[in-house]
Amino acid sequence: MKRNDGCDLESQVLQSLRTGRIDRELKEHAQSCGDCSEAAKVNVWMNHLAAATPRPDSVPDPRILRLKAELFGTTQAAQSVLQPIRLLQRVAFAVVALCWAALIAWKWEVLTNISLESALAGILGGVSISSASFTVFLGLATATVLVTVHTALAGE
Ligand SMILES: [Zn+2]
Repeated sequence: MKRNDGCDLESQVLQSLRTGRIDRELKEHAQSCGDCSEAAKVNVWMNHLAAATPRPDSVPDPRILRLKAELFGTTQAAQSVLQPIRLLQRVAFAVVALCWAALIAWKWEVLTNISLESALAGILGGVSISSASFTVFLGLATATVLVTVHTALAGE
């Protein structure tokens, strides 16, 4: 793969500078070619800069850095995958809460007239609840438990 549009011998010149071995023909070319001489000057300057740049005493362990990057990436991916599920849970909670509110509003008369005496009379004398009310109550209680359990399990 060609790295630039300059001289074809530039990479050979730079390789020779790295190894410290340059033949006379390549050296003459590097001195006469504008691209190669500029590349050689930049190479020398970069080497001086690298030598003058202080290195930190302790460089973090690359394995730790890689592990952190993998964990962070996994967390990000998990968050993006879980986002629609969390939205669905919130919607489910809202629907269940609205259904409870509707049930309470529907049966408000019955709920406000409950007293200990009427409850005892109902237990002793047999309660006549409509089967539709009981079905709605049971369904709503089941939905509440399911949504709560699903949220608790998904949170782990
Ligand atoms: Zn050249």
